[in-house]
Amino acid sequence: MDFDHSPRAQALQQQLETFMQTYLLPHNAAWHQAVQQGDYPPPFLEDLKALAREEGLWNLFLPGLREDEPGTRLGNLDYAPLAEAMGQLHWAAEVFNCSAPDTGNMELLHRFATSAQRTQWLTPLLHGTIRSAFAMSEPDVASSDPTNLQTTVRREGDDLVLNGRKWFITGVAHPHCRLMIVMARNAPDHSAAAETRHHQHSMVLVPLDTPGVDVVRNISVVHHHAPEGHGEIVFRQVRVPADHLLGGWGEGFAMAQARLGPGRVHHCMRTIGQCELALALATERALERRTFGKYLADYANVQEWIALSRIEIDQARLLVLRCAWLLDHPERTEPAALRAQVAAIKVVAAGLQTRVVERAMQIFGAMGLSPDTPLAQFWTWGRALHLLDGPDEVHLRSVARHELERARARMGASSAYFTTPEQMRTPPHLR
Ligand SMILES: Cc1cc2nc3c(=O)[nH]c(=O)nc-3n(C[C@H](O)[C@H](O)[C@H](O)COP(=O)(O)OP(=O)(O)OC[C@H]3O[C@@H](n4cnc5c(N)ncnc54)[C@H](O)[C@@H]3O)c2cc1C
Repeated sequence: MDFDHSPRAQALQQQLETFMQTYLLPHNAAWHQAVQQGDYPPPFLEDLKALAREEGLWNLFLPGLREDEPGTRLGNLDYAPLAEAMGQLHWAAEVFNCSAPDTGNMELLHRFATSAQRTQWLTPLLHGTIRSAFAMSEPDVASSDPTNLQTTVRREGDDLVLNGRKWFITGVAHPHCRLMIVMARNAPDHSAAAETRHHQHSMVLVPLDTPGVDVVRNISVVHHHAPEGHGEIVFRQVRVPADHLLGGWGEGFAMAQARLGPGRVHHCMRTIGQCELALALATERALERRTFGKYLADYANVQEWIALSRIEIDQARLLVLRCAWLLDHPERTEPAALRAQVAAIKVVAAGLQTRVVERAMQIFGAMGLSPDTPLAQFWTWGRALHLLDGPDEVHLRSVARHELERARARMGASSAYFTTPEQMRTPPHLR
C-alpha cells in the first residue's frame, strides 16, 4: 500500500490551505454573525464559490467525473488531505462544492441517473447552483435498519405518489435546496423481486416545491440549530412523474449502500481535520494558561491527554487513508472486506472526535463550552457522528459479521497453535 499523495494532490492541498487562509478565515467572524442574524447563507458565499471555481478548487471529491463535467477527478486517497483541511472550518466544504449531502447525492446521480435526470439535477449540482437532501430516516420506525422504512411510493398511471414522514433530513432548510432523493417503500407490488426484504424500497427524485411536501420543522441537534436544517418532512399525496424514479423499482436499498461508501469516508476525513484543530487549540491554550503557579501544559494529566489525542488521531488517519486507498483499488480486496473497512473507520472517527474534542474542552475550561471557540460545535457534530449514516452498533455488527465470516471460512486453521495435542483437534463441525 502506498499512501503518498500524488504531486498534483500535494499542490492542490497547498493551494487549498492558502485559499482558506486568504479568503475564508478572514470571513469567519462575519459568517457566524450573519448566520446568527438569520442571514443564511451570507451574501459573500457565492463570491467565494466563484473564486474557488476559478482557481480549480471545485468538486474535488468525485473520481469518475466525465470530461465535460467540472472538477478535479482526484481519487479518494488524494482527496483525503483536502477534505481534512476543509473539515477545520465547518462552512468551508460548500465553498468548494464538496459538502454533504450533495457529494453523496452527486455520486448517486452520477452512477444511476438517466440522461434527462442528469441534465435536470446532476448538472446544476455539479455547478453548485442548487443544493439537495437525502431523505431516508423516519420518526416512526428504527431507521438504522432501512428495511423498516414505511413512507410509501405507489405507481399510479404515469405518476409516482408518495406518502409518509421523514426526519433529520440534512440540508432542506438551505435556501438553494431544490431536490430530495427520497427512499420509499414500494406500495403493494407483486413482482418476484418485491418478495425479498432488500428489494422493497425505491429511490425517487422529489423537487422540494412539489405540492404535498411540507417541511414542518428544523430539528436542533444537542440544542445546536443548524441553519441548513435537519428537517422533519411530511409527504401527503406527493405526485411526481414516473420518470423521477432513480435506478430501478425496488433497487433503493442497493443504491443506498453504494451512496454511503465514499460519503462515510469523507465524514471521517473531515473529522481528522477537526480533531487536529482541536488538539492545536488545546496545546496552545495549555502553554499559556496557568493555575497554582504552573502552566496547564506542565500537569501530567494534561500531557497524557495531549499524547493520547496525538496517538489516536494518527492511528485514525492511517485507517482512513487505508480505506481511501482501498476505495481507489477495489480489485485489491473483496467487496465485503471493503464494506467492513468503511464501517470500522466510521466507528473510529466518531469516537475519536468526541474524545479528542472533549479533552480540548476540558483544557479550555468554561470557554470550551462557549460559542467563542469551534470546540462546542465540533463536539456536537462528533456526537451526531455516532448516529448519522448509521449508529456505531450497526457498523460494529458489520465488522463482527465480516470477521466471523472469515473465521467460518478458515475454521480449524488456527488450532495448530494450541499448545497441547488434545486441543489440536479437528473442529466439531468437521469431525
Ligand atoms: C445530525 C444528524 C443528521 C442526519 N442526517 C440525515 C439525513 O440527511 N438523512 C437521513 O435520512 N437521516 C439522517 N439522520 C438520521 C440518522 O441516519 C439516523 O438517526 C440513524 O440511521 C439511526 O436511526 P434512528 O435514529 O431511527 O435510530 P434507531 O434505528 O431507532 O436505533 C436506536 C439505537 O438502537 C441501537 N441499535 C440499532 N441497531 C442495533 C444493532 N444492530 N445492534 C445493537 N444496537 C442497535 C443503537 O444504539 C441505536 O442508536 C441524521 C441524524 C443526525 C443526528
